[in-house]
Amino acid sequence: MVGILALQGDVAEHAACMSRLGGAVREVRTPRDCDGIDGLILPGGESTAMRRLIASAGLREPVRGLLAQGMPVWGTCAGVVLLAEDGVWPCPGLKVERNAYGPQPFSSVVRAETGLHEVETELVFIRAPRILEAPAGARVLCRAGGDITALRWEAVLLTTFHPELVEQSPFPGHFLDMVRSRAGIRSSSCRGPSAACRPGS
Ligand code: GLN
Repeated sequence: MVGILALQGDVAEHAACMSRLGGAVREVRTPRDCDGIDGLILPGGESTAMRRLIASAGLREPVRGLLAQGMPVWGTCAGVVLLAEDGVWPCPGLKVERNAYGPQPFSSVVRAETGLHEVETELVFIRAPRILEAPAGARVLCRAGGDITALRWEAVLLTTFHPELVEQSPFPGHFLDMVRSRAGIRSSSCRGPSAACRPGS
């Protein structure tokens, strides 16, 4: 069961993407929605608005508890900002700069090779954050223009771009494999995350 933080942002696109891949999806708006999820997607959108809505929905603590148990989490764009060192659910050592490539008109699409089976994909950047420093031990999964644009650290997947908006991207499948592995469902390509993700603890 893949939870999608559904307070603001491109929730429907992530839901459609997971459903296409055969994942069960639950929109997460209240602490009760967190019961029984095996992973959580933090969508793109507006991180300042999301921060406020997370606080008013009372979601910070329940999600923090799940992340401390090693539940996989995937931050896309604004979701990366929520997982930064000064974010809502901080990953130690993750430093990001918001809106680092300029405002909306400077949005861009570039092609790049990924570290996931060397698959090439389109990267859609919309007011993207720049990863300035990665957590120690993180595996860089993609770069563009010299910047880290995707990484995996423990049970955390980060993409500063929007894989849910393109037809062919290896990242949604990678995340679903992380979730399935966590839930104990056999999957073809996953080696599985280590159990030791501790963002926010
Ligand atoms: N710039 C936005 C923020 O920092 C993120 C934009 C996005 O998610 N596409 O919240």
